[in-house]
Amino acid sequence: MSITQKLTEIKNNIPDNIKLIAVSKTKPNEDILEAYNSGHRIFGENKVQELTRKYDELPKDIEWHMIGHMQSNKVKYIAPFVHLLHGIDSFKLLKVVNKEGQKNNRTINCLLQVYIAKEDTKFGLSYNEVVNILESDEYKSLTNINIVGLMGMASYTEDLNQIKREFSFLKSSFDKLKLDYFADNSNFKEISMGMSGDYIHAIDTGSTMVRIGSSIFGARSLRPI
Ligand SMILES: *Cc1c(COP(=O)(O)O)cnc(C)c1O
Repeated sequence: MSITQKLTEIKNNIPDNIKLIAVSKTKPNEDILEAYNSGHRIFGENKVQELTRKYDELPKDIEWHMIGHMQSNKVKYIAPFVHLLHGIDSFKLLKVVNKEGQKNNRTINCLLQVYIAKEDTKFGLSYNEVVNILESDEYKSLTNINIVGLMGMASYTEDLNQIKREFSFLKSSFDKLKLDYFADNSNFKEISMGMSGDYIHAIDTGSTMVRIGSSIFGARSLRPI
C-alpha cells in the first residue's frame, strides 16, 4: 500500500475530532511530500536537527510537532516555528522554552510529558512533579508558554491490559489536573497518547492526539539517517 493509502486507512479508522500526527522521523522528504500532497499537514519529528532541516526544506504550511526528548540548549533552533512540543519533561526545560518564546515574540504550545510506563527508558514527569510545577510561583510568571495538555508513552509490551492501565492513568491524571488547575482554561484539552501499535486503545481511553509513524510510512531502519 502507498503512503497515501495507509494514511487514508488510518484516517478512516479514527474519529474526526482526533488529531493525527504523522511521525516522519528518519523518513525522506519525498515521503513527507506524498502525505502532504494527499492533504495532510501535521507532522512529528523527534530530533531537533532533523526537524529544522525538514522545516527549511518543506512547505511552510506544515504544522510541525516536536514529539521527542529535547536538550535545553537545542530549543532555540525550533522555537521560531514549532507548533507543539510534546516532550516537556522538566521544569528547567519549560523555563527555557518560555525564554525562547520571549525571544521570538511568540507563545509556544507545550504538553507536559508524564511518565506512565514501567520502563526505565522513557522520559517524563511524575504526577507530583507536574503538580509541583503548576503550584509554583515561577510557573505562574511564565508568559510565553501555553500548556495545552499531557503526553505519555505506554510500555513497549504485548500486555494489552498493562497498556490500557497506563493510558487510563494518563487520562485520570489529565482529568484531575484539569479540575484543579485548568478549570477555566479552555487551552488545556489535549491528551497525546497512542502510536502505531496501540492507538485504537489510546482513543478508547480518551486520547485526543495520536502520533503514528510506521503504520503510515513503513518500518524505520534502526540506523538513524
Ligand atoms: C517514533 C515515535 C512515535 C511513532 O511510533 P510508531 O510506532 O512508528 O507509530 C510516536 N511517539 C513518539 C514519541 C515517537 O518517538
